[in-house]
Amino acid sequence: MYDAVVIGSGYGGLAAALELARADKRVLLCEALNYPGGCASTFSRKGYQFEAGATLFSGFASGQLFDKWIERHDLDVTFESIDPPILFRTPDHELPISSDRAKTLASFCELPDAPVSSLRAFFARQKRVADTLWPIFDEPSRLPPFSMEALWWHLKRSWRYPGLLSLVNRPLISVLRAHSLEQYAPFVQYCNALSQITIQTNVMEAEAPFALSTLDYPYRGTGHIHGGIGRLGQAMLDAIERCGGEVWMSSRVKSCRRIPEGWEVETRKGNVKARTIVANMLPQAVDSLCSEEASLSMKRLKGAVEEGWGAVMLYLVIEDHQGLARHPHHIQTIVDPTQPLMLGNHLFCSISGADEEGRAPEGQRTVTVSTHIPLRQLREMEDEAQADWVQSIQERMREGLRACVPEVGAHIRVEMPASPRTFERFTRRPFGYVGGIPRTRGLHNYRGLFPTPYTKDLWLVGDSVFPGQSTLATAVGGVRTARAVLSRL
Ligand SMILES: Cc1cc2nc3c(=O)[nH]c(=O)nc-3n(C[C@H](O)[C@H](O)[C@H](O)COP(=O)(O)OP(=O)(O)OC[C@H]3O[C@@H](n4cnc5c(N)ncnc54)[C@H](O)[C@@H]3O)c2cc1C
Repeated sequence: MYDAVVIGSGYGGLAAALELARADKRVLLCEALNYPGGCASTFSRKGYQFEAGATLFSGFASGQLFDKWIERHDLDVTFESIDPPILFRTPDHELPISSDRAKTLASFCELPDAPVSSLRAFFARQKRVADTLWPIFDEPSRLPPFSMEALWWHLKRSWRYPGLLSLVNRPLISVLRAHSLEQYAPFVQYCNALSQITIQTNVMEAEAPFALSTLDYPYRGTGHIHGGIGRLGQAMLDAIERCGGEVWMSSRVKSCRRIPEGWEVETRKGNVKARTIVANMLPQAVDSLCSEEASLSMKRLKGAVEEGWGAVMLYLVIEDHQGLARHPHHIQTIVDPTQPLMLGNHLFCSISGADEEGRAPEGQRTVTVSTHIPLRQLREMEDEAQADWVQSIQERMREGLRACVPEVGAHIRVEMPASPRTFERFTRRPFGYVGGIPRTRGLHNYRGLFPTPYTKDLWLVGDSVFPGQSTLATAVGGVRTARAVLSRL
C-alpha cells in the first residue's frame, strides 16, 4: 500500500513526489510517457532534441526553489544564466530585456522620445510589488495555510502589504495610466507581450498585482538548462528514487477506484493501492479517470481552464551561422503591433546553444517556436476547419519568422509543426489547454489560495492549481499540495 500515487511527471507532479518522498512517505510516480516534464520536457525525434513547450526558466537564483533543490538533492544539471534572457523585437525596434532591471530600464529610456521620468517611476513601483510578492513564492510554506514560522515572517514584512491592496481588482492598464504610460506604444507592447507569456493575458485584462509581479520574470534567476529542460526533469526523477520513492515511466494511469483504505489505481503496469492520489492533470482529465463527483471549487476551476489557450508550434532544425549567438537564446517578436498577440502574430522563439551536445549535430541548431491560439474558438469548428485554421497559423508563423527573425526563418532545414491536438496526445491535457488559467482582473484570482482536494484524498497539482503558471509556479504549487497531503497522512 503506497501512501501516495502521483499521476504525471509535469513539474507539479515531480515537485509533489519529491516532497513526499523526502518526508519518507511511500510514493509511486506514474508517467505515461517515457520521458518526464510534460509541457516542460525535451523530446527526441529524427536524431534531434527539442524543447516541447517551456524553454526559459526562473527560480534558479540563490535561495529560490530550483536552486535549493539543486543543492539539497545534488541534482546533476547545469543552469545557464543568459543575459539578455529575451530579445524583444517589433517591426520598429529591438530591445534587449536584460536580467539586470537597470539595464532593461536604460534600454527603454534610450528609445527616441521615451518618457524617461514616467518609465523610472513605473519601474520603481513595479519593483516594490515584485519585491513584496516574489519572496512569498520562493518558499512554498509562505503561502497559506501558514505555519507559525511563516506567520511571523509575514508579520515582519506586513508594512509592505497595504500598498498591494490598492492594486487588487485593477487591470495593469490602470497602473500604466497612473504613470502616463498607457499611450507609450513600445512599453505597452512589451508589457502585453510579457503578460501574455506569463499570466496569459494582456494589459487591459491582467490583474495588476500578478502582472506587476510577473514583469520581474527576466530578473529572477532566469535562464536555460544546459542540454534542455528534460535534464532537470530526469535529475528530479533520480532524486525521487534516491529519497526512496518509486518511478514508473511509460505507465499511464487508466482509472482510479475508491476502496475502504483509499484508492485502487489501475496502471499500464498493473494495479496498486494508495491512501492518497496526487493527479498532475487538468480537472477535466480527472473526470475521465475516476467516477467521483468533483467538489464545487473544482467545477469552477474547469470553467476557468476553458477560458484559456492552446499552443501552435514549429519545431525547427536550422543551419548554424555567424548571425546567431553561440549561447542558447530567446527572441520574442510581435509581427504587427496593431493586432492581438496570438495566431502567429506573436512568436516566442528559442534557439539551442551551439555547444549543447545531443540537441543537434555539429553545424545545426534546434529551435522551438510557439504562438497562442484561443481554444474556445478552435473547439467550435468542424474537424476539417480546425486543421485548415491551424495550418494557416503555422504558415503565418513561417512568414513572421522570415520577416522578423530572419536568422531563423531563412535557415530552416527541417520542420515539424504541432497543434493543440499534439499537446493533447502527448501531455494528455484535454483539448490541448496549456499555460494555466489567464489571470484576468478580479477577486476570483484569490479564491484558490488554499489547496483543496478534487474529492476526498485526491489532490490536483499543475498549472491549473494556484499559483500554477510557469514551471516554477507549478513546482511551488506541487510542494504546497504535498505538504497539505502530508498533514492529512
Ligand atoms: C508552448 C509553451 C511554452 C511555455 N513556455 C514556458 C516557459 O518558457 N517558461 C515556463 O516557466 N513555463 C512555460 N510554459 C508553461 C509550463 O510549461 C507549464 O505551465 C508547466 O510545465 C505545466 O506543468 P504541469 O505540472 O501542469 O504538468 P504538465 O506539463 O501538464 O505535465 C503533465 C504530465 O502528466 C502526464 N500524465 C497525464 N495524464 C497521465 C496519466 N493518466 N497517467 C500517467 N501520466 C499522465 C503527462 O504525460 C505529462 O508528462 C510553457 C507552456 C507551453 C505550452
